[in-house]
Amino acid sequence: MTTDTIAAIATGMTNSGIGIVRVSGEDAFSIVDKIYRSKSGTKKLSEMKSHTIHYGHIVDGDEVIDEVMVLLMRAPNSYTREDTIEIDCHGGVLVVKKILETVIKYGARPAEPGEYTKRAFLNGRIDLSQAESVMDVINAKNDFALKTSMKQLEGSVLNVIKEIRGKILHQIAYIESALDDPEHYDIDGYGEELDQIVETELKKIEKLLATADNGKLLKEGINTVIVGKPNAGKSSLLNSLVGKERAIVTDVAGTTRDVLEEQINLNGISLNIIDTAGIRDTEDIVEKIGVTKAKEYLKEADLVIYVVDSSRELSEEDHDIIKMIEDRNAIVLLNKSDLTPVTSREEMEKLLDKKVISVSAKEHLGINELEETIKTMFFHGKLEFNDEVYITNVRHKAALKNACDSLAMVRKSIADGMPEDFYSIDLMSAYEELGKIIGEAVDDDLVNEIFSKFCMGK
Ligand code: GDP
Repeated sequence: MTTDTIAAIATGMTNSGIGIVRVSGEDAFSIVDKIYRSKSGTKKLSEMKSHTIHYGHIVDGDEVIDEVMVLLMRAPNSYTREDTIEIDCHGGVLVVKKILETVIKYGARPAEPGEYTKRAFLNGRIDLSQAESVMDVINAKNDFALKTSMKQLEGSVLNVIKEIRGKILHQIAYIESALDDPEHYDIDGYGEELDQIVETELKKIEKLLATADNGKLLKEGINTVIVGKPNAGKSSLLNSLVGKERAIVTDVAGTTRDVLEEQINLNGISLNIIDTAGIRDTEDIVEKIGVTKAKEYLKEADLVIYVVDSSRELSEEDHDIIKMIEDRNAIVLLNKSDLTPVTSREEMEKLLDKKVISVSAKEHLGINELEETIKTMFFHGKLEFNDEVYITNVRHKAALKNACDSLAMVRKSIADGMPEDFYSIDLMSAYEELGKIIGEAVDDDLVNEIFSKFCMGK
């Protein structure tokens, strides 16, 4: 068990009202005692009760560094389960740094990114899925991400996984016992029984897996590419969605030269919008870079929004785009609906089997319909958050997938009439795969890898 004492700045590195330096480990109290001076000058933090707050100053010898409030949490009732002190100081970057330096000077060591949460995990306060959700809570970009991460932090994923693992382990134990002690365990007809149990557990895992794609889209946003020939109104649409003048909008064809990325929130759905230079043949090198990128993005996009200038005839460029997006998840916007229409919805629908919506980026018309269409397309129109456990972590998804494969193998062995020890091999690997999600049977390298992605001070 780690016993050295770590310290880090837990708040952001900009000037703000309050800054927090957190110290955790066996010597947290004795170290801070050396640099804490109470009003009376006699109070010892190490003699104070857990979960109390103390006013005073942080000093280095005779030098007073800042006026502070100090929070005490004794092991095991702290985030890390270790003795922990939080020093609330003034939130200036320099002050916070100086306090951290002083704590380090008197015996603490700078914490690595994610080390507090790592300790919480290693000391058994939370499992790995909960530890990962801590980072997700911090990085949440929208309400959904925050709510699912909070649920995961409360143990939603842990609980389902534990339950499934329990069932699997029970069967492994049964098989082992039966093989060891055939006189007392009747294995006749066991295959059928096991098949049913495995089928039930498989269904649970498949249900979790089914949430993974939606979960990821909701959490990280839908990667969206806007395409359309120059002057169709792509930049105007982006501005209309973003609600501020971000892209450069002009009358000159091809002014949106490079690729812009913008994240927007549409009633709880995040779109990561990539606006492109427009897909067309061009002699302009700068634009060509944009065009190549646009094609690349198109391949990877979850959603393509194709903007058509409905006040004009469709051009060859439009036909090229239509060909390119035929097999993509796309929505067609007949833009400039405020002008006299030349290209009609019927014409468009004949050419491309996609949802066609009339909009005016300039007048902000039809944007609601676009939002509703996206909702229907990705989330079947329902976006209310229910009690379902969502899988939003790719690592969890991969482990679930492997567990599924192993359980499918168990069923296959049963169907093929293989001997019982075959079942337990695959049951065991499903058990281990699921264990990876909650951090059982994962090796140190993976643990280090996961926590290194955390921010400092967490
Ligand atoms: P892009 O090249 O596809 O990014 O097109 P822009 O967004 O730069 O728009 C080209 C021109 O069309 C600009 O003059 C816009 O003001 C105009 N425009 C864009 N959307 C609309 C619209 O809905 N109605 C009208 N009347 N003009 C629009």
